[in-house]
Amino acid sequence: MAKQEDLFKNVVSHAKEYGFIFPSSEIYDGLSAVYDYAQNGVELKKNIREYWWKAMVQMHDNIVGLDAAILMHPTTWKASGHVDAFNDPLIDNKDSKKRYRADVLIEDYAEKLQQKAQKEIDKARERFGDSFDEQQFITTNQRVVEYLAKKKIILERMAKSLDSGDLDDVKALIEELEIACPESGSRNWTDVKQFNLMFGTKLGASAENAMDLYLRPETAQGIFVNFLNVQKSGRMKIPFGIAQTGKAFRNEIVARQFIFRMREFEQMEMQFFVRPGEEMKWYEFWKDTRLKWHLSLGLGDKNYRFHDHEKLAHYANAAADIEFNFPFGFKELEGIHSRTDFDLKAHEQYSGKKLQYFDPETNSNYVPYVVETSVGLDRMFLAVFSNSLTEETLEDGSSRTVLRLPSVLAPTKATVLPLVKKDGLPELSQQIMDELKWDFKVSYDEKDAVGRRYRRQDALGTPFCITVDHQSLEDQTVTIRHRDTMKQDRVKISELRSIIDQEVSMRTWLLKTV
Ligand code: ATP
Repeated sequence: MAKQEDLFKNVVSHAKEYGFIFPSSEIYDGLSAVYDYAQNGVELKKNIREYWWKAMVQMHDNIVGLDAAILMHPTTWKASGHVDAFNDPLIDNKDSKKRYRADVLIEDYAEKLQQKAQKEIDKARERFGDSFDEQQFITTNQRVVEYLAKKKIILERMAKSLDSGDLDDVKALIEELEIACPESGSRNWTDVKQFNLMFGTKLGASAENAMDLYLRPETAQGIFVNFLNVQKSGRMKIPFGIAQTGKAFRNEIVARQFIFRMREFEQMEMQFFVRPGEEMKWYEFWKDTRLKWHLSLGLGDKNYRFHDHEKLAHYANAAADIEFNFPFGFKELEGIHSRTDFDLKAHEQYSGKKLQYFDPETNSNYVPYVVETSVGLDRMFLAVFSNSLTEETLEDGSSRTVLRLPSVLAPTKATVLPLVKKDGLPELSQQIMDELKWDFKVSYDEKDAVGRRYRRQDALGTPFCITVDHQSLEDQTVTIRHRDTMKQDRVKISELRSIIDQEVSMRTWLLKTV
């Protein structure tokens, strides 16, 4: 655990030191759970967004984009259920004065049971080797059966109590499980209360006439209210999707995990409109498709798992998370939800406008069902960044910090380094940069010994270093160094563009998603 905490601290400090992420308004001591993306962070974030957009919009001819406003008519949030039901159950520890989400305390407890079961499974696998039958072991080993059964009972009881609004039982569960405050170790808890997560704001000049608004807590509603506009103007035929990336705001109760849980964050969402009755087929399709997208980045297949929801949100008839193995354990990265016709029907009811589709194949009108895929851009950033940050010991005993970012996402694709700052090498380097910058984000560095410059680019995650030396002046060749292998090749300047392109192009990486 201590190791994991160190790793996480490294992630936060590396992000700051190398210009990826700064605390917001840091000169005023920052603002809790709000962060700014710096010069390298903004590039990495943009590349993740683009990788998602290309996979979702460009590669699917039945998905189109949208950029709806953050501010929406306030009735939107009545209809969506956010005014009445967008609450988290909070609980305070009276000794540490720390506030927690009651459901998260219970889920963390359940996760520990899962980990205990996993430990038994791993031990048995080691003992039995190739002949190990995991499924049989899970269903017959007494300890594993008990751990998993207990986990199930706990989660089901929590889901039931939250669903019925029985907050006393949520507290009773915390007490029965003897869950202690991670900070103080005490079990001196307050009652559980509901807390609405929406940020309120006002529209209008004078206090009397001002209209109460909310900053959107999810981007999805901008898609729903535009469903018919897009369908008609785009002549879209069901099934079709609308994709959107943009800011969302939540007044999170607990915000202690860097950019994992922010109060202002960015979502990448796609709502897929389908025929009623076909939603389960599409739900499975999108679970599969989205997992492939994640796996294409090569962060390790074992770092992902599905978590099917026990407690369904008020709008869903099926829901699963894609969880990622963050430095603090497996947590939600993306949600895939079968939202039924809840949202469109609710907007019909509150607006008095029909939001129906005429299906020429069935010759009937209906309110479509919706399957949603929703991934946090900042969480994606954290997954990619934390997984890529590695400390390596080299053959000569020295160590290097290398940010092994998937090269398609790297903020800078190549940096050009003149071996010395004279003899025309900076000028030739500049020429190379001027040529490459049409296609790639490239940088230039002439300060310090070349070895140190390599290390700096390793820490920034730059896939290629191009070194210009005296031979370059004579035969128009340079060395190109690969970040991960540190292998250096002598190549023609005229070949650089295609070498880099082959490695970093979206095409190369997206081909792995199909
Ligand atoms: P959690 O259970 O972690 O609070 P959620 O289930 O409320 O998340 P959704 O409403 O399904 O999240 O939102 C979809 C995605 O948006 C999440 O999978 C996550 O990646 C991202 N997200 C949600 N809340 C935050 C936040 N406060 N900060 C950063 N990303 C977030």
